[in-house]
Amino acid sequence: MPESLNDIILIATIIVVVIVASFWLAIVMWAYRDMRSRSRDPLAQMLVAILVFLLNVPGLFIYILLRPRETLTEVYERSLEEEALLQEIEERPSCPGCGQRVQEDWQACPHCYHRLKKACVECEYLLELPWNICPRCTTSQVNYTSDGTIATSSRHVQPSEPAPIDAPWVASQ
Ligand SMILES: [Zn+2]
Ligand SMILES: [Zn+2]
Repeated sequence: MPESLNDIILIATIIVVVIVASFWLAIVMWAYRDMRSRSRDPLAQMLVAILVFLLNVPGLFIYILLRPRETLTEVYERSLEEEALLQEIEERPSCPGCGQRVQEDWQACPHCYHRLKKACVECEYLLELPWNICPRCTTSQVNYTSDGTIATSSRHVQPSEPAPIDAPWVASQ
């Protein structure tokens, strides 16, 4: 029966063609989507699709060899990480004497012995050197001048003792 044999060959050919065409298109779609995740340039995306459409598997190999190394998401995440790292470096305090990195809770620089902070005479809370009063317990402090020497003016204010109020708007009330 040559008639039915021809039919079988025809059907088999159609099936093979459909499978090959689907595979071909799938590879083109994959390359196009992959390029879209790596480049915002629509021209580059189209060129990749055309290259893979014309050359198929060899074209796909060429694309994989030449494509941008990172996806846009990876580039974005890396830039975020770098920014965070940079911010961390900038936020870490440095010694005004020698420029070395110092910790937030250090009272003196271990490299050049520059005075960095002072402890509250009452509650040991760490204060900036110019501060003359402890923001936590309101105790007046021994003054350190900016060159690290100790100034002699020291006055003790008890937390229970209110500061005199002589503002004009208070008197008018
Ligand atoms: Zn130092
Ligand atoms: Zn204090």
